[in-house]
Amino acid sequence: MPPEKHALLSASSASRWLKCTAAPRFEEGLPERTSDYAEEGRLAHAICELKVLKKSTTMSSRSYTTRLNKLKKDPLYSPEMDKTSDLYLEHIDEIVMSYDTTPTIAVEVKVDFSEYVPEGFGTCDCCIIGGDVLNIVDYKHGKGVPVSAVGNPQMRLYALGALKRYAPIFGDTIKRVRMSIDQPRLDSYTTDEVTVAELLAWGDSVRPIAQKAYAGLGEFVPGDHCRFCRGKAQCRARANINTALEDFKDCVPLGTVQPGELVPQEAGHIGPHGNMVHPLLSDAEVGELLIRGQHLLQWYKDLEEYATKTLLDGKPIEGWKLVAGRSNRTFTDQDAALKAIIEAGYDEALVYDRKPKSLSELEKLMGKAEFAAKIGSFVFKPLGKPTLALATDKREPYNPAATDFAGVATT
Ligand code: SF4
Repeated sequence: MPPEKHALLSASSASRWLKCTAAPRFEEGLPERTSDYAEEGRLAHAICELKVLKKSTTMSSRSYTTRLNKLKKDPLYSPEMDKTSDLYLEHIDEIVMSYDTTPTIAVEVKVDFSEYVPEGFGTCDCCIIGGDVLNIVDYKHGKGVPVSAVGNPQMRLYALGALKRYAPIFGDTIKRVRMSIDQPRLDSYTTDEVTVAELLAWGDSVRPIAQKAYAGLGEFVPGDHCRFCRGKAQCRARANINTALEDFKDCVPLGTVQPGELVPQEAGHIGPHGNMVHPLLSDAEVGELLIRGQHLLQWYKDLEEYATKTLLDGKPIEGWKLVAGRSNRTFTDQDAALKAIIEAGYDEALVYDRKPKSLSELEKLMGKAEFAAKIGSFVFKPLGKPTLALATDKREPYNPAATDFAGVATT
């Protein structure tokens, strides 16, 4: 679901306010920004909703086509939305087929989870109920970071709201809740399942945290969750973490020293050579510094982005100004320019490059199945460049001997 407006403790920001309970009231005082990405997301959701409605109601083909064509006229529409919404619809179909009897399907379901989170409400993209299972599915159009449904607080809050909403109809027949997030642009489809008892217990556990955050009694706790915070550039708590350079100095000897020479360490720090350190950082220290500094770059970029916007708004940022970046020359009318070159006597073959389409473009052209059948044997996926990642990263460790020839999906 695109971000809900007006809920102080929104479900979509729950992963942030559950960790940094000061964030909601802090963000409240900062201007809200809407981006083309958010608007694109809203449009893609509207297409998804329409397709599920067409499939699950008696909507006429004429009405469907009219509504779809209207959505396609939006300047933010892209043909990719048609594909991603089809993939979402396919998944909804799969879920529906998994029930023994035809389940109840509802889209854009307003849910109220204020029993757990003050003034908590939101909108579920799709709820499917049958037998003893409630399925809720959330479509995400973003392609920045994959969002997993596993342990996802946004989905759990929606599920609590959906349970409450459907209790008058289904009573306590629902025993299990399955929560899925579809992010087709990242090929990411994840599902989590909990029993209703587990979900209710989770709701009880977050209630006091939500109350604290709502009351403005929370604490600032910086971390990965700062990434989507409206105050990420101006937050002092985050700045304090990133400017705590004294954290770094224990590892770095001061002044110029000769290799092999031991130099005095900071007072109070006793290392393997007493209070002297080796001028060469050990590999363990390099690892530790990388961990301490891993958020610095992102934080600096957030500061840059904030300062650029402030200067563009005509307000000063002391010591900084905006300048024009590099740009490349371009033709005002490329067709006319090329025509003029040929008329000047240059051979057309010298003026134009004949380039094949990219692998992805050709796969789009042929469809995955035909692409795999006809030219799958020509596809080779080289090993990616070695990239530094935390030891806890879920990806397999880099192995230069490994090469993946299975670069073609057949489905
Ligand atoms: S930037 Fe981080 S620490 Fe600061 S309020 Fe936002 S989430 Fe909390």
